[in-house]
Amino acid sequence: MTDIIVVGGGTAGLTAAIYARRSGKSVILIEKESTGGQIVFSPRVENYPGILSVSGADYASALTEQAESLGVDIEYAEAIGVEDAGGSFIVRCDSGPVTGKALVIASGTDHRKMGLENEDDLVGCGVSYCAVCDGAFYSGREVAVVGGGNTALTDALFLSGICKKVTLIHRRNSFRAESALVSRFREKPNAAFMLSCTVAELKERDGALCGVTVRNVNTREERFLPAEGLFTAIGQIPRTELFRGFVVMDAEGYIRAGEDCRTDRQGVFAAGDCRTKAVRQLVTAAADGAAAGLAASRYADSIC
Ligand SMILES: Cc1cc2nc3c(=O)[nH]c(=O)nc-3n(C[C@H](O)[C@H](O)[C@H](O)COP(=O)(O)OP(=O)(O)OC[C@H]3O[C@@H](n4cnc5c(N)ncnc54)[C@H](O)[C@@H]3O)c2cc1C
Repeated sequence: MTDIIVVGGGTAGLTAAIYARRSGKSVILIEKESTGGQIVFSPRVENYPGILSVSGADYASALTEQAESLGVDIEYAEAIGVEDAGGSFIVRCDSGPVTGKALVIASGTDHRKMGLENEDDLVGCGVSYCAVCDGAFYSGREVAVVGGGNTALTDALFLSGICKKVTLIHRRNSFRAESALVSRFREKPNAAFMLSCTVAELKERDGALCGVTVRNVNTREERFLPAEGLFTAIGQIPRTELFRGFVVMDAEGYIRAGEDCRTDRQGVFAAGDCRTKAVRQLVTAAADGAAAGLAASRYADSIC
């Protein structure tokens, strides 16, 4: 039996694992994709204290290297079930079960979908949730980005460097995103804005996106916008389905825990974007990871 199981290898999970290892605990970290989490797909991170600018991929690989150098055992598998065995926890993975004294849930969030009729059919054929992953496919073409937060503006800026025209569609007429990002995008010669607008319909030709119907939320007026790529950045949903009924969550599915990362179940801690909190960023995920890693270590000691 390991001391601590961590589910999720993003910033929160890796940081929890680092702190737990430095407290002398054995740690198995379960990650279903690649370590680093969401930030891997971000071209530039410029708000992490002490680091002027770094690509998400470089940041993620440095964090992974740090965890591995401390002896964190990373298991590339998907956690598919969880059980409280009284004094230990069993996490069932698609590769087999893992047993530990304490559990840190750091499963992060996933992209929110627009909920349009043919959205799923067009993923990979015009609809994308990741500008860095798919942007190159739309080089020299007209694309649109949906959203008004930092992710949408970061995506729009990135795409403006490779696409012919980038239209930002946002349901409000002001932005949640940092004003520096908005200004940088506004300065681009190929940037366009459709504010107070939502995407009402995805138009396809020969199985691929050819444009979108954009609806003004005030006037209800609709307009066709030609676009071969549509990049949506309209928020996140927690990846916590697996833990439903195991720990208490809020109405949106975020795991209820305070800054000490303790859930309602003893020995189970929630860290990073998957827990109830006001700010979801790398720096808050790292802070949670430290708190959860240390609290889980103390809990593991207490049940020896
Ligand atoms: C495009 C983009 C740009 C961003 N830019 C910035 C920025 O510039 N600065 C900043 O501070 N923040 C930024 N963020 C936010 C930041 O990435 C998140 O706050 C941070 O990644 C949260 O870390 P986390 O560890 O909580 O979750 P995540 O990074 O989401 O990691 C969770 C991990 O858990 C894994 N996982 C989930 N379920 C399971 C399971 N059942 N089994 C095994 N593994 C599982 C996932 O595969 C994932 O790797 C950005 C986010 C995005 C999407």
